[in-house]
Amino acid sequence: MQTIENAVAGKRYVSSSPRRSPVFNPATGEQTAELPLSTTDELNAAVDAAKNALPAWANMPPMKRSRIMFRFKQLLDAHADDLARIISSEHGKVHDDALGEVARGIDCVDFACGVPQLLKGEFSRNVGPNIDSYSDRQPLGVVAGITPFNFPAMVPMWMYPLAIACGNTFILKPSERDPSASLLAWNLFMEAGLPEGVFNVVHGDKEMVDAILDHPDIKAVSFVGSTPIAEYVYQRGTRAGKRVQALGGAKNHMVILPDADLDQAADALMGAGYGSAGERCMAISVAVPVGEATADALIDKLKPRVEKLKIGPATDKDAEMGPVVTRQHRDKILSYIDKGVEAGAELVVDGRGFSLQGYEDGFFVGGTLFDRVTRDMAIYRDEIFGPVLSVVRARDYADAVDLIHGHEYANGTAIFTRDGDAAREFADKIEVGMVGINVPIPVPVAYHSFGGWKRSLFGDHSIYGPEGVHFYTRLKTVTTRWPAGIKEGAQFTFPSLK
Ligand code: NAD
Repeated sequence: MQTIENAVAGKRYVSSSPRRSPVFNPATGEQTAELPLSTTDELNAAVDAAKNALPAWANMPPMKRSRIMFRFKQLLDAHADDLARIISSEHGKVHDDALGEVARGIDCVDFACGVPQLLKGEFSRNVGPNIDSYSDRQPLGVVAGITPFNFPAMVPMWMYPLAIACGNTFILKPSERDPSASLLAWNLFMEAGLPEGVFNVVHGDKEMVDAILDHPDIKAVSFVGSTPIAEYVYQRGTRAGKRVQALGGAKNHMVILPDADLDQAADALMGAGYGSAGERCMAISVAVPVGEATADALIDKLKPRVEKLKIGPATDKDAEMGPVVTRQHRDKILSYIDKGVEAGAELVVDGRGFSLQGYEDGFFVGGTLFDRVTRDMAIYRDEIFGPVLSVVRARDYADAVDLIHGHEYANGTAIFTRDGDAAREFADKIEVGMVGINVPIPVPVAYHSFGGWKRSLFGDHSIYGPEGVHFYTRLKTVTTRWPAGIKEGAQFTFPSLK
């Protein structure tokens, strides 16, 4: 069985930790690898490597850093298929979906290639007599990223390419459930000419996360994962004096107004609700049809579509949805379906008991559809993170908005309508970080930034794009006077234009 390595200071090695975690192929249920959960000493060595690499990397002209990013991007393009296969083998998502994830990750590398432009500062001549002033953004130092299982290539790429392009050195702790994609990316980055120690991958679990949060030489932490852990990471990291952005969980609602094209809305809900087996932080897990007639018609369109979902392993080219990530996660999703039934929701399509010939031990859950879900039910309040779509019927538009505003999460939302006025009102007033108008999964492109509101994000910065540049740099403003120096003698009043 394969033992998964760390990658530090330009070398890959097997951690000496006796604590190990299994990695599975979710389609077959077989354990495929063993992941050592690295020790605090191993993190300390990685931080030392990142510190040693920092001065030369931070001083390298941004254009030269950008050239390494370009080569990295070319290598990622060439190996996109390999990366997608690794993702599918540990995460379970179907191949095309994995390729899509890789493509969106590469977009972030593309954005980071523009770092000379992104770091350009501001200059003001004559802020006082013969005095000039400029501001520029400088790297923070050693920074770290802690990532979730659901996008094992893309979410790390929301972080390290931009952080590194900005002149920082980086330590990545990937999810212990699908750790291998980051190692192929690390190999490619090294092949692109990245100096040793600039990018390091150290595997682990909570113990490693705590060691990262407490390490005095790590200046900033980017975290993506579930809300309870995001909140914990934010609090512990900021208490230790670090800059922290911690993105959390979601329960994304899609409002369907009576004038919407219902076939289009139903198709959108299929992709957004069941794609990647619902394991996306931007998945739609709540459909909110407005009015009883809209709801009845929508259910009529959704039911056959959910029943016909093609579920299979990533190796099956026709599969639309794969298994979920682990046996425990499958059992948790199934217990939520039980809870929904007990609470009185109407189970329109039941995904329990789904089994696939030849893959009986795989972690599959069938597509599940609930109608008449209400706001007090656990299946509505909690993030299930599986192929379970809940329909909550709204009386009118105001009721739909009130529902969304009552939820603790505010990552993404969407509205389907032909009414421009209603759509504009929704975009303007809804208290959610990312909004789609007839777009079910409005993930911002790499040159915008990604982030939810309320308990979907802790910290002041969204991730990647321009906000990412701000997160990974700090502003310095310099005021200069040449060449005469102060001729008038000491001044004791606060400098101002007289
Ligand atoms: P998770 O919170 O279980 O794990 C995320 C990371 O935290 C992992 O690296 C894990 O090792 C670490 N971790 C787990 N338990 C910990 C603990 N007790 N203390 C410290 N660290 C701990 O999340 P997951 O199950 O891997 O991923 C799914 C979650 O991530 C969902 O809630 C999803 O919505 C969220 N997510 C959010 C976004 C976003 O952009 N907002 C994107 C992707 C995923």
